Amino acid sequence: MLARMNGSRLTAAAKLQAQTIGLSLAFVPQGRKSIMSKEREINGQVAGSKSRVSLSPGLYLISTPIGNSRDITLRALDVLAGADVLYAEDTRVTAKLLTLHGLTRPLHSYREHNAARIEDRILAELADGKVVGLVSDAGTPLISDPGARLVRAAIDGGHHVTAVPGPSAVTTALALAGLPVENFTFAGFLSSSANERRREIARLSLVPTTLLFFESPNRLAATLADLVTILGDRPAAIARELTKLHEELRRAPLSVLAAHYESSGAPRGEVVIVVGPPGQADPQVQTGAALDDRILDELARRPVKDAAAIVAGQLGLPRRVVYARALELKATQAK
Ligand code: SAM
Repeated sequence: MLARMNGSRLTAAAKLQAQTIGLSLAFVPQGRKSIMSKEREINGQVAGSKSRVSLSPGLYLISTPIGNSRDITLRALDVLAGADVLYAEDTRVTAKLLTLHGLTRPLHSYREHNAARIEDRILAELADGKVVGLVSDAGTPLISDPGARLVRAAIDGGHHVTAVPGPSAVTTALALAGLPVENFTFAGFLSSSANERRREIARLSLVPTTLLFFESPNRLAATLADLVTILGDRPAAIARELTKLHEELRRAPLSVLAAHYESSGAPRGEVVIVVGPPGQADPQVQTGAALDDRILDELARRPVKDAAAIVAGQLGLPRRVVYARALELKATQAK
């Protein structure tokens, strides 16, 4: 994945970039300087220089790398350089990004907790014809990051809203998981409350697409256990530390992943869970929450044996599988 360098000279920026992504300097691609020269020609200006780029007024949603600092786009650098003002989730993180590229721009905080207060000021700046950039700590703004209400307010205010697309952990994990990509559902972070998390997973059990979740490493094992219980043993993948030095894709059925993280403990770094759509695994176990819902429905009206027989007949499942699950649910209800 990484080109090996044979003794070419490193610019200060290249050294800093290599350090930022935890690479040994021996792995910085060769000829960075000449690549930069070409970038400058193509772009008609010096990307990352202090010279300002002329941009139309409006709100720019600027995607930034999710790990590897070299994944910044030339246009992102242009807009970072050309914005009148930048708003960032964490100004320290974005200040580092700007320093890395030799940029200095007015930088303010825009977070969920101050969004309501800051928004009026941003809307006034937009009304004033300013170029306003919104950046999150990593990846695409708004994707489990602040910005949605600002975009809505800017649209409602009749302002120009545009995006500088780039990396996101969602599309990167989806592309690498080896699961169906034609349709997918990004479900963001599940609730940290176990009961609410199970309800959320249950609501997704009939969605006929690949599912993607962001998750904290500390909750990964518990979430995988809930996923396998409620969705059944679907094929899945854990995408960890994407684009970083220790990038890892672990592709296996949910039960195997759940057992792995249960015994290994919380992994280091950031993770995305990708789960294949229903219909890919053993039909006896894939109905998950749909099965539970139907069993519970029948259990409310009749004895376990009858409820299991009716549901098994309706869903075309073996009676013993449904009966075993009905007994479990009945026992849970009794607690
Ligand atoms: N807006 C970002 C994006 O577009 O990727 C996502 C921000 S969200 C607050 C952070 C979550 O994204 C992490 O908890 C993790 O689930 C996922 N994530 C971000 N970077 C990642 C990476 N390099 N590898 C794996 N997951 C990552």
